Amino acid sequence: MRGPAAEQPDLIVPPVPVRLAAPDPGWAETTDVVVVGSGVAGLTAALHLREAGLHVTVVTKVNIDDGSTRWAQGGIAAVLDPLDTPAAHAADTEAAGVGLCDPAAVRVLVEEGPARIRELIRMGAAFDRHEDGSLMLTREGGHHANRIVHAGGDATGAEVQRALHTAVTRDPWIRLVEHALVLDLLRAADGRVCGITLHVLGEGAEDGVGAIMARAVVLATGGMGQVFASTTNPTVSTGDGVAVALRAGAEVTDIEFVQFHPTSLAIGAGVTAAGAAPAAVVAQQALVSEALRGEGAYLVDGDGKRFMVGQHELAELAPRDVVAKNIHRVLLESGADHVFLDARHLGGEFLHQRFPTIVASCLAAGIDPAVDLIPVTPAAHYASGGVRTDLYGRTSIPGLYACGEVACTGVHGANRLASNSLLEGLVFSRRIAADIARDLPPQAEPAPQATVDEWVVDPAGRAALQRAMTRGAGVLRSAASLTEAAGTLAQVGAVRGVPRPDSWEATNLVTVASVLVSAAYRRQETRGCHWREDFPDAEASWRGHIVEHLDVDGVRRSQWQPWTDTVSTMGSAQ
Ligand SMILES: Cc1cc2nc3c(=O)[nH]c(=O)nc-3n(C[C@H](O)[C@H](O)[C@H](O)COP(=O)(O)OP(=O)(O)OC[C@H]3O[C@@H](n4cnc5c(N)ncnc54)[C@H](O)[C@@H]3O)c2cc1C
Repeated sequence: MRGPAAEQPDLIVPPVPVRLAAPDPGWAETTDVVVVGSGVAGLTAALHLREAGLHVTVVTKVNIDDGSTRWAQGGIAAVLDPLDTPAAHAADTEAAGVGLCDPAAVRVLVEEGPARIRELIRMGAAFDRHEDGSLMLTREGGHHANRIVHAGGDATGAEVQRALHTAVTRDPWIRLVEHALVLDLLRAADGRVCGITLHVLGEGAEDGVGAIMARAVVLATGGMGQVFASTTNPTVSTGDGVAVALRAGAEVTDIEFVQFHPTSLAIGAGVTAAGAAPAAVVAQQALVSEALRGEGAYLVDGDGKRFMVGQHELAELAPRDVVAKNIHRVLLESGADHVFLDARHLGGEFLHQRFPTIVASCLAAGIDPAVDLIPVTPAAHYASGGVRTDLYGRTSIPGLYACGEVACTGVHGANRLASNSLLEGLVFSRRIAADIARDLPPQAEPAPQATVDEWVVDPAGRAALQRAMTRGAGVLRSAASLTEAAGTLAQVGAVRGVPRPDSWEATNLVTVASVLVSAAYRRQETRGCHWREDFPDAEASWRGHIVEHLDVDGVRRSQWQPWTDTVSTMGSAQ
């Protein structure tokens, strides 16, 4: 018999091997608000902050368009059809979240969503329309109404990113700093966040480590797919925002809920549970959408046998999680690093016409789906948890906000409903801007920082970490697999040297992976996208949140918070 959730044993993942601190900044500048990240959440926050008359600096790791946003395909969910209602959108969102959504946050999402889409359209985003000019609204898995707006068919994210990019670069009061890795937060003596440290990878006076002082900081750093060896996320998605927030003592929650897409194109560096050695930086893997299975493609193993038949009444069209779990099993049993989709019988002409994007990705990899089997593997796709916020994006640390995939606003619960993530970025970034504009304190002085530790996480351990996470903390988890993953994390070595961006990223990956493994171990049930082989059912006693933070010595602390429908995730924390 299991005891109450709060009393479950914790998995001891040793603290992150080194406590890295950014070197003393060689240069500093000042702005009103720093936004970290330039996807849908960061750029929307920046534009709304400008409407409030504030000076904004957007810092981004590589180029402005390099986050997940531009890769989003299906669309954005919002109630725009007169036959649809916010209550219906909320019900679908909460059904997907399996009892863990925060009803107040969901209400905000569905009620404010339509206005944010209209703003995006006024800004220039061109969504697909019918001949009479009305928006085309489609339906996706889990939605009971037509409420998905899309652009260019399956290129919604690219259009959203383009529109926001254009608007931001048009505003001379938004300073954009590209090729800059944000390292850590600066804190005042009273604990308030008052800026960031960053490593600019460029030429000129600002090269190297610097500081940007600010009266508030917004984390919009996106997801953490790169914690795994196989992911649909771009290479910038290394969970930096979660790690930065943890190092500053902020709370993160629901981090165990990672959505895996069952069929990503298994080419290049990405590997699976059983797979071969990946390159250190995992390549982003193209999605092979379930629509291909919907049109009749089958999943087969290395011997050409259809393995979904008999596993579920819908066979290949079973829910995503079921398909991902079965593929994962085949991989573990066979030692292969991918299974195959057989779409050959659909014919070249049909495939080119119906699935141009998928066919193009395959052809680029030398695979002709009309002639060849398509190698596919499950891949980490979306982080439902993240830095814990209230309804205004406020984290547990004054002056620090979070929005987009890095945040846990409470809207997704144990699993995200399709097309709700771009919407979340639009809705909550605007609320953050409103809150900052309402109450922005003067610039505070940073307190002295910890000295640099000359031991840094060895980036050479990154590939082993990713492989261990996919194998032990991926689609299917158990106490044994998670303990094995924790063992690998404990062995990621430290080397002597000055921290460089690759060691910061490696540190962030270890930090996030450790917290994820611990929470996944602690949650002894299967709920949403968290699948425990040893605890296959959802349990009423586990209806609640695991909230994690690091204490001042870098030691992980974990609290249990039972779910309640009366307050938002954080209530009015600040
Ligand atoms: C293939 C794919 C398809 C998807 N399809 C859909 C869909 O149809 N509908 C939907 O709603 N969602 C979809 N999603 C999810 C959605 O795209 C993301 O959740 C969303 O775009 C996240 O937006 P964001 O602004 O939070 O982060 P991102 O767009 O990922 O941007 C994060 C930004 O932070 C920067 N950054 C990260 N770390 C640092 C650092 N240390 N210093 C400085 N900058 C940093 C990055 O460079 C990037 O600019 C999809 C995701 C993928 C990968």
